[in-house]
Amino acid sequence: MRASSFLLLLSLSAAPLAAQDNSAFLKQQMPGLVDTYKDLHAHPELSHFEQRTSTLLAAELRKAGYTVTDHIGVYPDGTHAFGVVGILKNGTGPTLLIRADMDALPIIEQTGTTYASHVMTKTKSGLDTGVMHACGHDVHTTVLIGTARALAAAKSQWHGTLMLIGQPSEETIDGAKAMLADHLYERFGKPDMVIGLHDTNQHAAGTIGITAGPAMASSTSIDVTIRGIGGHGSSPEVGRDPIVLAAMYILQIQTIVSREEDPRDPSVVTVGDIHGGTKRNIIPDEVKLELTARAFSDKARQTILDGLRQMATGVATSAGLPPDKMPTVTVLEDESTPSLYNDPAMSARVKATLEKTLGPSNVFDDLRQMGSEDVGIFGLEGNKVPVVYFWLGAMYPNRFATAKAAGKELPGMHTNKFEPDPEPTLETGVRSLTAVAISLLQ
Ligand SMILES: [Zn+2]
Ligand SMILES: [Zn+2]
Repeated sequence: MRASSFLLLLSLSAAPLAAQDNSAFLKQQMPGLVDTYKDLHAHPELSHFEQRTSTLLAAELRKAGYTVTDHIGVYPDGTHAFGVVGILKNGTGPTLLIRADMDALPIIEQTGTTYASHVMTKTKSGLDTGVMHACGHDVHTTVLIGTARALAAAKSQWHGTLMLIGQPSEETIDGAKAMLADHLYERFGKPDMVIGLHDTNQHAAGTIGITAGPAMASSTSIDVTIRGIGGHGSSPEVGRDPIVLAAMYILQIQTIVSREEDPRDPSVVTVGDIHGGTKRNIIPDEVKLELTARAFSDKARQTILDGLRQMATGVATSAGLPPDKMPTVTVLEDESTPSLYNDPAMSARVKATLEKTLGPSNVFDDLRQMGSEDVGIFGLEGNKVPVVYFWLGAMYPNRFATAKAAGKELPGMHTNKFEPDPEPTLETGVRSLTAVAISLLQ
């Protein structure tokens, strides 16, 4: 308790000088960083394919004086990932991991900016689609480059080791796992703290939002196959129609959250994808459903999984299906991620530093989100390493104010019109991460 209060005092007293020195350096860096951002934005790469982005990041970190290793990460199928690690040692002190993610999304960009992406690709099922940085991971990668330079230039203001991470495949939530599976901590050392940020349409550029404690929900991917007995559409009495059973199941599982969960512990169950049948007059043999479940506690997550299994069996049993036609409920652990817990004591330190750096009126207390992130994986199971992940306001301030006055929201992440305001967003991101890193490495 005493040690952390002392550290907090030290960080508060050191912050104004640090911010002053570093902002001159940052002003000079900004034009180049905006160019880097626009280049990354125009050349987005999907999860598992971040070759160009990771090469660019690795080169920039090397130029900034870091010892860089790339191609870090191995996926469960044995393929290699494009993870990047940059290490900068600066005397004795704690190790701070700063994480940025690098991947983009299969979306056709509609922002109309001069640096918009025109990259096209095909989905798994062969449909044409665009590739777009619709989650702003290009902002995160650029902010990491700026922060790397600022901290290398400010070595007299901190002590310890920086471990900068360019993480692939956040959108498929298997990138952080892939890096740890490639013995990240055994090879480069285990960090004492983890920080990172994500841009948002919920705040204007120049401002930050932060949540202490549970910050983002866990995400669990589940495949359900409802089976039946197929036949002619005119003779339903001969078979057992899995489309009707799937419809009953989808309605019944709505009661898991509303009737079985503790209302004080929020959770979500969504069926996002349903496939069954080939023709209007054929009763198929099965219907496949793809679900996502969100929860904060392990108990709430388990209640969902138990409910999905029990109700699937219940629907099949009530239809009189034999044991070999029971439904299957499969949890895809590789496509699931735990909830994100922002260490409360470290969140308080980070918030105090952000208020000193940006002014108290530019730092907001945010509510927790049902969205998910795999950054918490760097904190290891049971939150062994404290993590703090905060929200970087990214919207053009005038557009944000106009929308807010009209009771509206600007297009958010994962939409084709998500458009960060480059310069103030990047500048605030670099100033924030740099000041927070300096205050944590005293
Ligand atoms: Zn995203
Ligand atoms: Zn994202």
